[in-house]
Amino acid sequence: MHNYNRAEKIAQILQKENPHPKTELVHSNEMQLCIAVMLSAQTTDKKVNQITPNLFMKYQRWQDFSSADLGELRTIIRGVNFHKGKAERIIKASNVIIHEFRGELPRTLDDLIKIPGIARKSANVILQELWDITEGIVVDTHVTRVSNRLGLTANTDAVKIENDLMKIIPQKYWRNFSGAVVFHGRYVCKARKPDCEKCILNKLCPGAFKY
Ligand code: SF4
Repeated sequence: MHNYNRAEKIAQILQKENPHPKTELVHSNEMQLCIAVMLSAQTTDKKVNQITPNLFMKYQRWQDFSSADLGELRTIIRGVNFHKGKAERIIKASNVIIHEFRGELPRTLDDLIKIPGIARKSANVILQELWDITEGIVVDTHVTRVSNRLGLTANTDAVKIENDLMKIIPQKYWRNFSGAVVFHGRYVCKARKPDCEKCILNKLCPGAFKY
């Protein structure tokens, strides 16, 4: 089967299995999702969800984050990896959102990536989760691993992987693909021991039973 057809088939199967994937990051407004996404880099969603209830009780508006005491913020988020740098970027990002975007998160990828601490992957997550806007494919550690095993890319760099996937996966599947692959990677095609026996993609996967 040509790689383009195989990719479409994989996207179709994943969509059927998981038609409405949503982030597992707990949030109740746009600001909270944005902060949670920033905290989730190189950290599990579970860890982020453990610290955000306290965090969002103390900081409820962008202004609260922009005027936060750096040391205090670092202490509250110390349960996540790279918390020192993340605290700095959260304060800087809040200032940019207040002063350059009138206190509202912008709704384009180009504008979102101007905010400190928000790279392409985070911007894609924010756009998709908050407003169902799909400009690209979210590539995180799960999408990287699963796409390589599935033979959809041979790259390890997130931007290159995203380009590879956007070329072979029809655009109508982009939104679903990212979320569904994250779940697939978390629960089936796990890093250490993929469950190829139970995997619904095993007939289409060149990496099946090899890891
Ligand atoms: S068949 Fe195995 S390696 Fe391929 S996607 Fe499924 S779990 Fe991952």
